[in-house]
Amino acid sequence: MIKEALSAQRADIGVIKEKRGQTFTIGDAQPYVDAVNGMTVGEGQSPEVIDLHVQSVNAHYEILKGLTEYVRPEDDPFVEHYQTPPILEILVEEDTGFKESMSKFIDAIATNEALVGREAVRRYGGFYGPTCVVDFAFCPGSTTSVVNEILKGVDIPTAHKKAILSAKSWGMNTSYGIGAAFADSIEAGKTTAQAVRDEIEMLQMVYREPIAAQTKLMTDGGHQSFDVKEYMLKYKERMKPLILKAVEAGVHYGNIVTVPAYCVGDVAHHIAQSMFNMAKDDVIMAIMEAETDVLANTLQRGLEQGYDSAYDVLSVATGSTACGAAYILEKDGFTAPMVIDLLTKRFYNYVQLYPNRGAAAELHNVDFMDMIHRGSNILEDEPIGNGGKVRGVKVDLDPIEKNEVLANPQRYTYPACGITVRFSALMRLADFPCLLTSEPVTATLMTNIIALNPEVPGSPARVCKDCAVCILTKRHSHCSWHDTV
Ligand SMILES: [Zn+2]
Ligand SMILES: [Zn+2]
Repeated sequence: MIKEALSAQRADIGVIKEKRGQTFTIGDAQPYVDAVNGMTVGEGQSPEVIDLHVQSVNAHYEILKGLTEYVRPEDDPFVEHYQTPPILEILVEEDTGFKESMSKFIDAIATNEALVGREAVRRYGGFYGPTCVVDFAFCPGSTTSVVNEILKGVDIPTAHKKAILSAKSWGMNTSYGIGAAFADSIEAGKTTAQAVRDEIEMLQMVYREPIAAQTKLMTDGGHQSFDVKEYMLKYKERMKPLILKAVEAGVHYGNIVTVPAYCVGDVAHHIAQSMFNMAKDDVIMAIMEAETDVLANTLQRGLEQGYDSAYDVLSVATGSTACGAAYILEKDGFTAPMVIDLLTKRFYNYVQLYPNRGAAAELHNVDFMDMIHRGSNILEDEPIGNGGKVRGVKVDLDPIEKNEVLANPQRYTYPACGITVRFSALMRLADFPCLLTSEPVTATLMTNIIALNPEVPGSPARVCKDCAVCILTKRHSHCSWHDTV
């Protein structure tokens, strides 16, 4: 599983290094598709789960290639939101029991008007501070936490509750984030009461007609690159036999709605025009490359020491790059709390400046803050921190130390004053940290973990994430990780 995760990451980095600054075409993602096609079914793993991942990436790549050559930067983050809607529709169409549960849940959205209204108001006003509205955990203000609250009071089988919950965490059932319709309506001059009704209607649509809802969201948002409805209909048709096979094999619905979605983003999102543009900067490219080596070397060290579980591999993988990011930050004299403070203060001004800001605006800032918060705890000497270790494995920071670019920031600015170069490159990555956190690595490892336990839903993570903003904004009393369906 380590080899598979690293080859996904290396495929992305390799293409980006070669094509940065150039024009993107869908075919550029071929090396990532090749890496995914190298995934195998290990001992004790469910072949159906591995297939959901591998076949989805291939379906995504081929369908997209059939529809367009190019994806505009404005459209690229959404490419991983066209898989869960069709899959959810297949499950509802094929399983009358699940259909009944879904319909009870949709009704419950309306009966929870007070809850939905309160959370929409809180999001609009920035009550919780910077929040990842589509967080994969139960963070305050996230769609996951609201859906969880609603599900708690619905009388349907627990397995169905978990599936519905997964569909809006690691599963990306549409691009919708709680509160977006409410904010639009308020800004359009409607009353608060009407805005809450609009919010409820949109939320219901996301579950009642997922494909139509995603099409509407993209149309309203000005998507141009390809016909998104046609993509979803083609994807639905192509994936249906695989979905039914997974159901037959007893794979939890919560995994069926997530595995095929979180792995496709490398095709036309991480390998995409926006990334080719961002990586034109030598320092940004160097950070992504050095971090990839930190990841590879640390995972290798762990292998030599031996891992206790597959989850440990995931923890070491994400912990190593988090530690590396904090290390780069500290080289310029910055600390994680300083950056969390800065981005959090900025957030409140941003809410006022742009009350109709996109639902996703602060999402990756939050991921970035969480990463450096965790990383700096790992990096810090004992007993305050972990002494540079994750799960007992010492993070190898040498690739950062030995990187020619990162060792010579003066070459990329006014040379005698080059003290903010690495920090400024990190700030760009704060909007697009996908290959640092790293998403392809997490996706590949999660599929391997889920394949070992296909009947247990792999998401949302039922742990407290120790959100970085909690060091400034006292919101942890609203964290619902301990009270989940
Ligand atoms: Zn991403
Ligand atoms: Zn928490």
